[in-house]
Amino acid sequence: MDDHRPHAVVIGSGFGGLAAAIRLGARGWRVTVLERLERLGGRASVLERDGFTFDRGPTIVTAPFLFEELWQLAGRQLAEDVELRALSPFYRIRFNDGDEISVSASAEWMRREVLRVAPSDLDGYQRFMAKADDICRIGFEQLGDQPFGSVADMARIVPDLLRLEGYRSVHGLVARYVRHPKLRTALSFHPLLIGGNPFRAPAIYCLIPALERRWGVHYPLGGVGRLVEGMAALVGELGGTVRTGVEVTRIETRGAKASGVKLADGQSLSADIVVSNADAAWTLGKLLEPSAVALADRARLARARYSMGLCVWYFGVRGRYEDVGHHTILLGPRYRELLDDIFARKRLAEDFSLYLHRPSATDPSVAPEGCDTFYALCPVPNLDGSTNWESEAERRRAAIQQRLEETVLPGLGKRLLTSHFITPRDFQDDYLSERGAGFGLEPVLTQSAWFRPHNRNSGIEGLYLVGAGTHPGAGLPGVLSSARILDKVVPHASQFAR
Ligand SMILES: Cc1cc2nc3c(=O)[nH]c(=O)nc-3n(C[C@H](O)[C@H](O)[C@H](O)COP(=O)(O)OP(=O)(O)OC[C@H]3O[C@@H](n4cnc5c(N)ncnc54)[C@H](O)[C@@H]3O)c2cc1C
Repeated sequence: MDDHRPHAVVIGSGFGGLAAAIRLGARGWRVTVLERLERLGGRASVLERDGFTFDRGPTIVTAPFLFEELWQLAGRQLAEDVELRALSPFYRIRFNDGDEISVSASAEWMRREVLRVAPSDLDGYQRFMAKADDICRIGFEQLGDQPFGSVADMARIVPDLLRLEGYRSVHGLVARYVRHPKLRTALSFHPLLIGGNPFRAPAIYCLIPALERRWGVHYPLGGVGRLVEGMAALVGELGGTVRTGVEVTRIETRGAKASGVKLADGQSLSADIVVSNADAAWTLGKLLEPSAVALADRARLARARYSMGLCVWYFGVRGRYEDVGHHTILLGPRYRELLDDIFARKRLAEDFSLYLHRPSATDPSVAPEGCDTFYALCPVPNLDGSTNWESEAERRRAAIQQRLEETVLPGLGKRLLTSHFITPRDFQDDYLSERGAGFGLEPVLTQSAWFRPHNRNSGIEGLYLVGAGTHPGAGLPGVLSSARILDKVVPHASQFAR
């Protein structure tokens, strides 16, 4: 039987693209998701190797209600497909001198941790968290899923931005409340989780610790890939199609209206609307005819700053490191200066900080029996820097291994069973990420809200953007919220006039 529903093409199967496809499907659209890779999930895809299961990207799942909502739109419950496990503590921050702070949702736990590390900062810590709650309420709950399509939308939030001191940097705001350098670091590192420099990212991102405390830090048993699988299945249940190995090379237009997409094999696919979950800079800079790009977007691209790059080492080991928790942050000797090297000087420094993921701490199913699955993530300059990754990759991997052996994983080298290392070049080649950036455009005030590429493109009717490079930004809550915005800017299929 012919399907007369209006047709939406979604370019890319990252969390933003899959969430958009579910929402459009639930609102009567016939949806086709086109993914250039053979695997789904984009940065959240899965790497299977020698019996180990690695989530390639996101590991910290916050605001789980955003996922629950998607299952409900398909008439289902998330818990039928995926078991989310709440972690306690959330993570451990290990400083270069071996000192540690463990972060948890429990007020009593945090009181003890702060008293141990920085006793005179307890009052400041509590006032900071109250401020972070306030920022979360406005910045995430009220504004996170609002489209910022006009200057008036931006003007409306200026009073809140001033009141919440959103013009300060994250570190600048933290420093107004607490004095101890370790506590300042523990309360300010969060923008790094979404590609930002704590000394430049606007204080609005102080919402992250509040978001974690309010809704918890979760892990889906089986890995984050279970969420991707589940979402792709929902697209199908809502009458949509997901195709892998299909690259879009051009968004086609008729007049100033999106009319479909051109594929790498030369075929065209017509569409009533196109939703791009591809990198926003790539979408505007490479998928559109240059003359079709709105002046404001051209200006955005011309002055764009990109988030940091990432090296990620996925490795599996014989035996289990029972003392290592699910999430550990291992800080190096320098904080601000290292960030300057990464973000401003774009220089690959000898020292580094790491985030270490050990999902087998919670879920033995991701490793062969008696083994551990890990990844170590290392922030590095994006491809605006001059690092030659051909020659540097193995040197960096070996340095990470040595650092881990000296700190939390003694004897690591003798226990390695599998190993895979990626650099910013892989982000460029696999995800078509501009400058190999780990998280798309850098989260700075001048690239936030109205200043970020809009969810509804202003130059081409029927073209929409979701994912890390559009509003509100990177991270799972951000990209799921970008798809939520589509409900406000795309008409229900029954009201769509062809
Ligand atoms: C290592 C790492 C760790 C992270 N950890 C966390 C975390 O713990 N918690 C958290 O909340 N966030 C985390 N993030 C951030 C989060 O993963 C991302 O912001 C989010 O997954 C990006 O989703 P997206 O919708 O923008 O799409 P992406 O994941 O970027 O996917 C886009 C997809 O589009 C496809 N595509 C691109 N161009 C085309 C084309 N022309 N044709 C067809 N397909 C195309 C790509 O192949 C890709 O599959 C992490 C990111 C990384 C890299």
